[in-house]
Order: sequence, then C-alpha cells, then structure tokens
Amino acid sequence: HAKSLGRNNYQFYTAEMNTRIHEKFAMQEGIRHALDRNEFFLDYQPQLHLHSGRIIGAEALIRWRHPQKGLVSLTDFIGLAEETGLIAPIGEWVLQSACMQNKDWQDRGLPPLVVSVNVSARQFKENNLVQQVKQALEHSGLEARYLELEVTESLIMQNVQQAVAIMKELQAMGIQLSIDDFGTGYSSLSALKSFPITRLKLDRSFVRDLPHDEDDKAIAKAVISLGHELNLKVLAEGVETAAQLSFLCENGCDEMQGYFFSRPISADLLAALIQTQDAATLPSDAQRVS
Ligand code: C2E
Ligand code: MG
Ligand code: MG
Ligand code: MG
Repeated sequence: HAKSLGRNNYQFYTAEMNTRIHEKFAMQEGIRHALDRNEFFLDYQPQLHLHSGRIIGAEALIRWRHPQKGLVSLTDFIGLAEETGLIAPIGEWVLQSACMQNKDWQDRGLPPLVVSVNVSARQFKENNLVQQVKQALEHSGLEARYLELEVTESLIMQNVQQAVAIMKELQAMGIQLSIDDFGTGYSSLSALKSFPITRLKLDRSFVRDLPHDEDDKAIAKAVISLGHELNLKVLAEGVETAAQLSFLCENGCDEMQGYFFSRPISADLLAALIQTQDAATLPSDAQRVS
C-alpha cells in the first residue's frame, strides 16, 4: 500500500511540476513580448508630507495587463523577470515612462513632484544604470532633482563598494536616492553612513501593527531618530489607518505613503487629485496632529 501511494504521489508531483514548468515558460514568453505589445503600464502612489498634508511625490509601480489573464500579480512576474534578465529592459522602460510622465505633469502646470522609481538588483549589477538614467532624463527633459531611485539594502549589500560608487555618480547628477523597505535588510549602520541617500522608507511590516505593538513602536521610533541623526527624511510605507498616521506624526516621521490616503492610481487620476489638492480636505487626523 505504502508503495503504491508513493508512486501515486510521485506521479501527482511530476504532473504538477510539468504544469508549473509549462506555465513558467509561457509566462517568460509573455513577459518577453509584453514590452513590444505595450502591455505594461505604471500606476502612481502619492507620497505626502506629513506636516502640511501635501502631495510631494509619487512612486511609480509597474502593472502588466495580459491580453488573456488580465492584470498579472507583481509577485508572479517581477521575480521571473529578474531571473531571466528581462527585468533590465523592463526597468529601462519604467525609468523612461516615469520621467516622461513627470515631465508631462509639469508641462500641464502641476506643482513639481518627485517621481520615485524602483531599481532592481540586475539593473544595478549590469553597470549601465547611470547611462539609462541619463538617457531617460535627456529624452524626457525632466530635471534630475525630480527623479528618485529606490534601492533596497539587500541590493546594496551584494556589493557595497560598487553600489556606493554608482549611487555617488547618480547623486552627482542630482538624482535623489532612498532606501526602500528599510529595516528588513542587513545593512550595517557603518555601511548606511556611507550611502549617498536622502531618505529611508520604513518598511510597511513595522507600520502594520502600530500603534499597538510595542516592538514595532520601538522600531519605528528608532528608525525615525536614526534617519534624522543621519540627516535623512523618513517616509513610512503602508499607512492604512488614522491611528498609525497619528503615531507617526507624533513621533516626528516626515512623510507617508499608504492606502489610508490613496492606493496606487493612474497618472491621470493622480493629476486630478493634485489639481484639487488645495480645495480638498486632508485626512482629518493629518490636520489635527500637525
Ligand atoms: P515597494 O517598492 O515596497 O512598493 C510598495 C508596495 O506596497 C506596492 O505594492 C504598493 O501597492 C504597496 N502598498 C502601498 N501602500 C500600501 C498599504 O497601505 N498597504 C498595503 N498592504 N500595501 C501597500 P506593489 O505595487 O504590488 O509592488 C510590490 C513590489 O514590487 C514593490 O514594493 C517593488 O519592490 C516591486 N516593484 C513594483 N514596481 C516595480 C518596478 O517598476 N521595478 C522594480 N524593479 N520593482 C517594482
Ligand atoms: Mg518601492
Ligand atoms: Mg517598499
Ligand atoms: Mg516592498
């Protein structure tokens, strides 16, 4: 009995593995063609200055609308794109599009925003990131100070010296740099000191259980003071509730991003949101606390 059960299990797994390999291959082919077929687009999530409640920037987040499957989950394709190297041309497309979009907002008379673009480990390693950024700025006509690149600690720690050298080149061009998902990686404090960055993005896993979880409260406060000691701005990611927002305001956090104010939205919707910003009432707690 045990033997036949084992055999069945074995067959079950191979069939499942076959399907998975097939799906993975199909997905790779899909990603390969998605750029040519214009299936990618960017959503933008507003970033707010906590004290004034104003929108100061927006993070560009890639989306893939597959002709048959509809919207494909990011976790399903970013990893695969990274594995196959396709993330490089995709990343270049994201940079170009985000810069063009930001310039377009400015040309339409919106107050200037900083657009944040996520950078993948591959883009960093393949050593032409600086060139890509230059081209995106030239092509779009966007000034460097309106572009921010988000890098993760793990990306930097793969090769600190090389990463810092690239970041310094970008900084010299006038680009802003931030550490994404801060607190989840392994950067030492001495390494952090040498990064030419302007802000830390406190990972949303530390924001989720605020203001109840004692450990997260301690971590959030510590990151805010660490950031300020190092002359950096601190942005809290994943703010979903008024109570989280109050805690962050009370503890001197500078900026926030999260569903409480807005999910990632289309470029047009963001423009409309900003145009009505002066008239719009801010989330009441942001006003009350500041
Ligand atoms: P990330 O850079 O940390 O981006 C923030 C993610 O948190 C986004 O997920 C956003 O939708 C989500 N988020 C924002 N506010 C909240 C909130 O209040 N609650 C919750 N639960 N989630 C919130 P998204 O768009 O699914 O992106 C996931 C990750 O995929 C990003 O994490 C980033 O690492 C990566 N990614 C997205 N776009 C790009 C891209 O263009 N290039 C690269 N290399 N990576 C990207
Ligand atoms: Mg990010
Ligand atoms: Mg993040
Ligand atoms: Mg993340």
